[in-house]
Order: sequence, then C-alpha cells, then structure tokens
Amino acid sequence: MSDTGSSVGTEIDVEKDGKQVSYLRAPHSRNSSAWGSLLIPITVIKNGSGPTILLTGGVHGDEYEGPVCLAKLSRELQAEEIQGRVFMIPTLNLPASLAGQRLSPIDGKDLNRVFPGNPRGTMTDIIADYVQRNLLPLCDVVVDLHSGGYSLRFVPYISMHYLRGQAQTQKTFAALKAFDAPVGLLIQEISGEGLLDYEVVRMGKVFLCAELGGGGMLDVHALEVAEVGVRNVLKHVGVIPGEIVSRQARGLPSTRLMEVPDPEYYHTAMDPGVYEPFFELGDFVEAGDILGQVHFLGSCSRPPEAIVARRPGSLIGVRSPASVERGDCVAVIARDLGSDFDPLA
Ligand code: CA
Repeated sequence: MSDTGSSVGTEIDVEKDGKQVSYLRAPHSRNSSAWGSLLIPITVIKNGSGPTILLTGGVHGDEYEGPVCLAKLSRELQAEEIQGRVFMIPTLNLPASLAGQRLSPIDGKDLNRVFPGNPRGTMTDIIADYVQRNLLPLCDVVVDLHSGGYSLRFVPYISMHYLRGQAQTQKTFAALKAFDAPVGLLIQEISGEGLLDYEVVRMGKVFLCAELGGGGMLDVHALEVAEVGVRNVLKHVGVIPGEIVSRQARGLPSTRLMEVPDPEYYHTAMDPGVYEPFFELGDFVEAGDILGQVHFLGSCSRPPEAIVARRPGSLIGVRSPASVERGDCVAVIARDLGSDFDPLA
C-alpha cells in the first residue's frame, strides 16, 4: 500500500483484484518486545471497478456486534460475488478490543476522538492517521459499527449526521434507509471533535454509524441488525448483487425515522451515586417526566436526585451500569420524524 508518512505497513495491495486477508502492522516497541508490532486484521476484497466501501468495527473495544459481524463477513464474502472493493477491519482499535475496554490500554486514548490522527503520536493516533491518509481517500462509503459499550445500551439504530450539502444528504439518507435498522436516526453529536465521522463527511463521502446493543453484551437481535444492514448497504451501492432484505418483507415494522436534534435530548447525572431508572429502553416519555433518580449511598436522609426529561420522545439510549459518576450520560431521548420524512424538505 502506498505510504504517505504513516509508520503503519501492510502486505495488502489495494489495487489488486481478489481477496486479501492480512494485517495492518504498526510498530509497537514495549518492555517485552523491542521490535514488536501490533497486527490489526484487515480483509480487502476487490473485483474490477466499482465503489469502495470501508466497514469498521471495534473502534471502541467494549462493543462486540461490529467485530463479530465483520469477522464473519470477512470469511463469507468472496471476490467473485463483489463488484468494486470492500475493506473490512473488524477491530480497528485492536488493543482495546483484546482488553474488552472502550479505550486503548496502550495509551489510554479513545480512537474515535483523535481523528485525523498523528503519525508521530501514540498508538491510537497512529491508527487514526493511517485510516485518514491511506484508506479514507479511496472510499466512497464508510460504515462504522458501534454499540453502547459497557456504559450504555441502545435501541439498535443506524445514524447519520445533519449535513449541509444536498447531494451528500440525499446519498447518505438513501444508504441509511437501505441499512434498514429498527431505527434510522439523524443525530447531533455531543462528542466534540476528533470523530472518524467528521473526517469522512468533510471529504464529501457517505458516512453511517450504527449503534447496536451495549452493556458489554453481544445481543442476538442487534447482531442480526448489523449483519442484514451491512449486506443491505453493500447491495444498495452495487458492491454485491441481490435485493435489499427489508424489515417489511420479514414481517417487521419498517424503519422508524427519528432524530436527536440538540444536546437537550441527552441527560446527565449531576452527582455520583446509584441510578434507578423509571423507564425501559424504548419507552415513550413526556417532557417533565422523571426518567430516574440518583441515590446517595452515604446518607439515608439525603433524598435522591431526580433526572427530569427535558424533551418528549422515546428512550433510544440508557445507562447500563447502575453506578454513576457526576457527568455520566444516563438517558438519550429521540423524537419521531415520521415515515415520509424528507431530509431535503
Ligand atoms: Ca462506540
């Protein structure tokens, strides 16, 4: 692969037809291994000309549907059945995935907060930089498979950001609908800069992020959403043949289009304690409803602190462990857009 300053190397030739199952090799000097490397599995399948799609999982190491979905797909997909090119990296932040932790145990960083990365930074920066320089410019579409990890649980959804450009909005929304998750979400992030998302969007490409299950689990239903969704997007862009497997055709309610339009839809614990939720994931709440309360274990007399819903809608994400710190997100509400929603209207 042509190298433009990254210290990551690979045997893979991105222009070669066929299926290549290999590694991204990042130098990893440490006490136990002077000339050691971190070997991040990657599968590249190319057949003739066509769109290029990058599928990533394991950006956070405590999220499991993406890695399992993409490891299976890496074994299943063959060059003969595709037209174009597919990059699959099931565990992009491999050290985090091996540790079952959100952040890299090597440098304590969040891979999805360091983009565009830095070739002279620490391991997480180096991985991000490699993706930014060497993979993103080749791609038309990027689908990043996440879940809630240890600390959150989500109604399985596929999401896109609110975009400025009409053509990019149209293309991204069409891909979102093709994924055909239970929920299709337009989202206003509160994560700040450094997301892979923004880099792909800035390049004018299609970016989708799935949030599948969470709570440190691998959910059967969420995994199926990922597997069907990824194949649907591959069909939608023409990389694999066949009809999109729609929820409707499987007797399921069609994708519910929703949005998280501003930070008011996120709810935060203001003190450390034990969070007692009053609603289940997916429940509808009114503005003013008490979503739950934080108990203070050090005192019997101190009343719990209520977390009040600031907006009406459905609980799309909830805190998973009961124990909370000040500033932890305990609930995310989303509102319905309606089945005939048009993002360009
Ligand atoms: Ca995540």
